Amino acid sequence: MNGLIKTASLLFSRSPLWQPTLLGLKPAKSIRPVWSRTTQLSFSCSFSTQTQSNIARFRPVAFYSIVPLSQDRVRELQSEIHSRLKQIDVVGRIYLAPEQGIGGINCQMAVPLSQLETVKSFFQGIREFTQTGPIAFTEGIQDTTTPSFRNLRVVTKRNLVATKVGLQTKDLEMQPDYLDPAVWHEQLADKGNQAFVLDMRNHYEYDIGHFEHAVKMDVDTFRDGMEVMDSLLKEKPKNEEIYMYCTGGIRCSVAGSYLLKKGYSKVKMLKGGVSAYGNYVSKGKNKTSLFRGMNFTFDGRRGERITDDVLSHCFHCNAPCDRLSNCSNTLCHLLFTQCDACQAKMDKTCSTKCKETIEGKIEWTDEYNYHNQIRPTAQKKAVAVAVAV
Ligand SMILES: [Zn+2]
Ligand SMILES: [Zn+2]
Repeated sequence: MNGLIKTASLLFSRSPLWQPTLLGLKPAKSIRPVWSRTTQLSFSCSFSTQTQSNIARFRPVAFYSIVPLSQDRVRELQSEIHSRLKQIDVVGRIYLAPEQGIGGINCQMAVPLSQLETVKSFFQGIREFTQTGPIAFTEGIQDTTTPSFRNLRVVTKRNLVATKVGLQTKDLEMQPDYLDPAVWHEQLADKGNQAFVLDMRNHYEYDIGHFEHAVKMDVDTFRDGMEVMDSLLKEKPKNEEIYMYCTGGIRCSVAGSYLLKKGYSKVKMLKGGVSAYGNYVSKGKNKTSLFRGMNFTFDGRRGERITDDVLSHCFHCNAPCDRLSNCSNTLCHLLFTQCDACQAKMDKTCSTKCKETIEGKIEWTDEYNYHNQIRPTAQKKAVAVAVAV
């Protein structure tokens, strides 16, 4: 029985994919798990049957568009998009937000290969999203045999990405220069360590992969990004070039616009983010990637490998390891790196306490604290060791 419960809890341990907080968004509900052990069991059975019978291939596809939408239009689009994608077996996580905040759409999907063109033309047909030209879709480097999302969620939010500075859609009209991956590559290769490159992602994303010479923001979520960026740029002349990148581009569209409004005049961002760059280097012969390691993704893949470099270390034994996963004690859910040997030894948990909890030996009584769960003191030390090596 214990074994069954454990399997169920592993299968259903929530991945970062289902944690909107990683982009700085507040979850619609508390993210503290509420499932009982009994429900975990029944859920795991249906999940495993579904994946075994699914032999289709899927392409990870993403895009975003920051555009003004009224509350009514957001609700209209929510239902229109959900029913269309449901019909053609697309799964994913789609956020819609009205113009009073950072409005528009942020869309990540796993699309059956047979439906790729249908999905693209469906979104290209929505007038608001093509106001400034056709949608630039970003596709995963590799197709997957199982979808990288477990279901379809079309969710309305106050902001596509949350910040502490209260931005509205109209504040983001001035946009940075969008550099295609090829142009980005040339400019960075040319400038080397003379380029000022800001990695706009969270600390754990940087740790497993980043561009050479990039500055780490060292934030838990994008929500803290503007303040940290302000302090990093305090001494920088307003006419100096600033390069910035993130996973797919949306964080830079917001942060870059914020910098332009503050008077910085030469802000450049990587169009399509690391995802687009990964595609560019994987297809280009004789191109040495300037990004090293893994590109963390907010879906079931947990990341795409861009180069074979392993930049981070196992949380427990410090062996080279860049696979991020969540503690299998869903009441803890720490996001951390763990090697195969330590995963086996610890039953995919982060600590003896969590291991004993899933074994039913002790009762878990701690309050869930998101920031502690992704970066406890111990992990800070592990990061410091990794940087020092
Ligand atoms: Zn280890
Ligand atoms: Zn744990």
